[in-house]
Amino acid sequence: MYPKVYFVIPCYNEAEMLPYTIEKMSQKFDSLLKNGFISNESKIVFVDDGSKDNTWHLIKEAAKDKMFVGVKLSRNCGHQNALMAGMSYALKFCDCVITLDADLQDDINVIDEFIKKFEEGYDIVYGVRSNRKTDTFFKRFTAQSFYKLMRVFGVEIVYNHADYRLLSKKALEFLMQFEERNLFLRGNSPDWAQINNCVL
Ligand code: UDP
Ligand code: MG
Repeated sequence: MYPKVYFVIPCYNEAEMLPYTIEKMSQKFDSLLKNGFISNESKIVFVDDGSKDNTWHLIKEAAKDKMFVGVKLSRNCGHQNALMAGMSYALKFCDCVITLDADLQDDINVIDEFIKKFEEGYDIVYGVRSNRKTDTFFKRFTAQSFYKLMRVFGVEIVYNHADYRLLSKKALEFLMQFEERNLFLRGNSPDWAQINNCVL
């Protein structure tokens, strides 16, 4: 049995980017299916986080294909909350979720490795950026300072890991028990004792 993988992609005013993302993700999805990485009940879930542009229209069009699902939030709730909304939707159906940003800045070819690690028994697999060449100097500098500062404050955080990760159903169920409302998902996971995690 191949795993039911739900890809969760938060979208806020992504109308310009979405046609590209839909195309790339649908190609990737087909190849994962063909190569026996995912079950054909897997889905790509777009969460519209209260966009003001054409985002929802594009998601609805894409969702005519059963590969895609749209979740619409009534107002803009922020990236981390949009991720949580998508993951709590997925939890009911999936074996694991993979979260990624709509701009596909993270390398989607790594998804194969994510799933292999899941099959080996890992509950969380973190994707990290091996370089930030496509970021501006400012973004690189602020991002690096951010990770260093978080460490100084004692937050255990995986360096250069954005919100590109796989979470098993077990890890998701665990996460949903947190009552934290000011979410920063990257800072939560390392203490989850029963959870088996690895960094790619
Ligand atoms: N996003 C969202 N709600 C927001 C802001 C952003 O759902 O209020 C989504 C956005 O569409 C993207 C992801 O979260 O898919 C990351 O956002 P962004 O690229 O702005 O963040 P960065 O890459 O700078 O961390
Ligand atoms: Mg981005």
